[in-house]
Amino acid sequence: MAVVVNGHLIAVDCWDPESTLNFVSHAHSDHISGIRKNKKVIASRITKELIEKRDHRKRVDLSEDLEGITMLNAGHILGSKQMYAESMELGASILYSGDYQMESVAVAEPIELKGSDILIIDSTYPEPSDVFGDRQDIILSIQEFIKNTLKKGIILFSSYALGKAQEINRIANEIGILPLVDRKIALINEVYVKNGIKLEYLSAEDADDKLESALRGNFLAITSMRNFNEIASRLSDTYCRRVYTAVASGFAKNFNMGSYAQFPLSDHSDFKHAIEYIDACSPSKIYTRGNNESSSVFAKNLSKLGYSAEVFNGSVPPGWHKR
Ligand SMILES: [Zn+2]
Repeated sequence: MAVVVNGHLIAVDCWDPESTLNFVSHAHSDHISGIRKNKKVIASRITKELIEKRDHRKRVDLSEDLEGITMLNAGHILGSKQMYAESMELGASILYSGDYQMESVAVAEPIELKGSDILIIDSTYPEPSDVFGDRQDIILSIQEFIKNTLKKGIILFSSYALGKAQEINRIANEIGILPLVDRKIALINEVYVKNGIKLEYLSAEDADDKLESALRGNFLAITSMRNFNEIASRLSDTYCRRVYTAVASGFAKNFNMGSYAQFPLSDHSDFKHAIEYIDACSPSKIYTRGNNESSSVFAKNLSKLGYSAEVFNGSVPPGWHKR
């Protein structure tokens, strides 16, 4: 999927062999396939740091010339950006959202809003029923859960290593709890701390007195491993205590995540905030981007509300690849 801007075919968050430039909105693994050897990318310096920290074999070659592109904070995770450009070919301005979050996240830069003629928008939550309620209330309920459950046993939070883990870490810090994090999360935490995000944590790699003393009592652990129920059972065997599992994800609203507790805390905007985002950008044309099902559902739901919306397939302008 690509956008034509001022003589460049820019692949957005994907690999396109015909592209002359790649835009990488943020460091989540499903957005970085455009990073290839000898290929210049437009991305934030923090995105480069996060990608290289997670995988030492990867090198991100940032383009020094932004070629008329402006990067705007997306509010999703640290370093995440939207792409804005005034395209000569389109005779219009174009904004690509990447993954974005309208609500403020303590461990990410707040989103920057800008009007644009054309908007390419992420479709993670395409249904009007995809609304999560007040984010601050969800955070308070996580903090209540942590405080009450630590009186009874160990807590194991399962979380994406990048973004959500740092937010859970901060949520715990705000009530005076130092979580124990796995190696993958600790590496990312280092980049966050280096870039001014305050996080206090214990790393499972540091076999020091502080860690040993924390493990003597009940503790909160955050893991990026998917097999969290297996890890919980191992922790329970090792420490002879009950382990309570928890998950924080927007999908927790509609799906059973297989954990003891689940919280609908998302780093994506819900449907209600997507509409606020669209209205702030005030585009005359919207292209929805995401997996086939969600992008087509989102385009249909936006059309019902009176927006001119269709699925982003191939390129903007449409058909460019066929020329
Ligand atoms: Zn993402």
